[in-house]
Amino acid sequence: MELITAIILGLIISFIVIYSVLISNPFQSKKRNEHLDRIAKANADLGQQLSLENQLKANKDIYKNAEFVNKHCTNLDDFIINDQINAFDLRKLADLNGIQLQIREGWYPMTIDLIKELYENGWDKRVTCIKEKYASLRFYTEHRYGDTIYKIIERYEHKSERICETCGERGEIRHQSSWDYVACWKHYREDLGKVKAEGNGFWYNEDFYVWSDVKDAYFSDLDYYQKYKFLRLEFQHAKVKNQVWGSNKLFVSKHTIGFGAFLNHLPKTFKGLDYEYIRNFENVAYCEVCGYQAVYFGTCECCETDTWAEYLGKWNKEEEGDDAEKYLHIKQRQLYWTKKGGEIGEAEQKNYPKNPAYSVLFTEEEIKKYLEYEDEDEYEDEDDDQN
Ligand SMILES: [Zn+2]
Ligand SMILES: [Zn+2]
Repeated sequence: MELITAIILGLIISFIVIYSVLISNPFQSKKRNEHLDRIAKANADLGQQLSLENQLKANKDIYKNAEFVNKHCTNLDDFIINDQINAFDLRKLADLNGIQLQIREGWYPMTIDLIKELYENGWDKRVTCIKEKYASLRFYTEHRYGDTIYKIIERYEHKSERICETCGERGEIRHQSSWDYVACWKHYREDLGKVKAEGNGFWYNEDFYVWSDVKDAYFSDLDYYQKYKFLRLEFQHAKVKNQVWGSNKLFVSKHTIGFGAFLNHLPKTFKGLDYEYIRNFENVAYCEVCGYQAVYFGTCECCETDTWAEYLGKWNKEEEGDDAEKYLHIKQRQLYWTKKGGEIGEAEQKNYPKNPAYSVLFTEEEIKKYLEYEDEDEYEDEDDDQN
């Protein structure tokens, strides 16, 4: 009996420990909150942010000046689904179903296509949830596993994983601080934030912090390749926005724009800081993939590609790498970088100097083929789902 009690007690304690570790992850909560904020903002773009109770009542004002097919529709059975329906109709459809639209505006057009296709296939306009979950669209409606409605929804679920939730451009799933979402390169980079040393302190996004207020600094979360994921800065007085783990701590991710340069500007006075590690960041080189001067410690801060040497090291391929292999490797990465919109996004943001001698290794024909192949790939997925 005592043994059983001990086991049960042990289990309870383990659960408490695991749970507290999970909820104490400050990034997850922060990201989750920011994400919900964005969804709220997306909804607000159609009018204003609403609580569920007041939704129907207040939506009357939202719709007042908008032009859309179902403006005067008050009953789901009369709701019209045709080629003219827009985001307001989508919102109205959610209203009439008594639910909120829990997706961001980048996914509106795709969701409108989804409901059109569902309707053509006999869907009854009933939906219990429209939301984003694990970086893909969730659309809950009545259907049987494997039937037409199921297959259409599943196909759009896959499709959503390639559409930026913010702007609707081609995107991919991003894993950031334990939170997954879909973003194009531009919006992904905007989310990463920027850090820059200046004068007696530094900028972190829109906020300025002075060095004299920094109580302590240290690196945390060493990864498999012996690189730290975060620099943690602790302040005496400054209050950091959106931090769950005490408002006096700032977590700067290694993916933050300007991170490498920032490390080289840290004062040399923090006892807890691994200055040996920082020496790895002293030399900044041009990247062969994206062409920007952003290569620190074997990885490009801009395109997030490892250098050729780093790549060989990680795969224990020191002896195999020759020039021809390298050429193909870099070319492949350049194609990928171009496909995901990196060059367009960076040229706009100008975060790093560009190598004047940078050369693109692929031809017009090759990039065309590469993009076509990607699209074909998408259609093949769809066919698989339909079979
Ligand atoms: Zn975007
Ligand atoms: Zn690069």
